[in-house]
Amino acid sequence: MGESDEYLGPYFKGQVPEQCGHYYPDVMRVRDKSEDQLSYQRFFRVLDCRFCGQYGKSIRPEAFSRAEIAEKDLPRIRKSELAKLLKRNVAF
Ligand SMILES: [Zn+2]
Repeated sequence: MGESDEYLGPYFKGQVPEQCGHYYPDVMRVRDKSEDQLSYQRFFRVLDCRFCGQYGKSIRPEAFSRAEIAEKDLPRIRKSELAKLLKRNVAF
């Protein structure tokens, strides 16, 4: 039986595929990481797909649940969100 004969999911009703179109558990989440850019911060979810290999998926900070945000990241997140608001010229 070759790889093309393998079942590719979804594995349960309503399951949402990852960016590459494959499903958990074929796609395992490896970890989340953040990367400081010059004026903003990018967040990545690193996924490891048994068909596509490892890839990074860009995620917005608000997609994190509170428990997933490390305390040490909060000051940086606040700073970057504030910078975005100020850029849009939002009055407080
Ligand atoms: Zn994949």
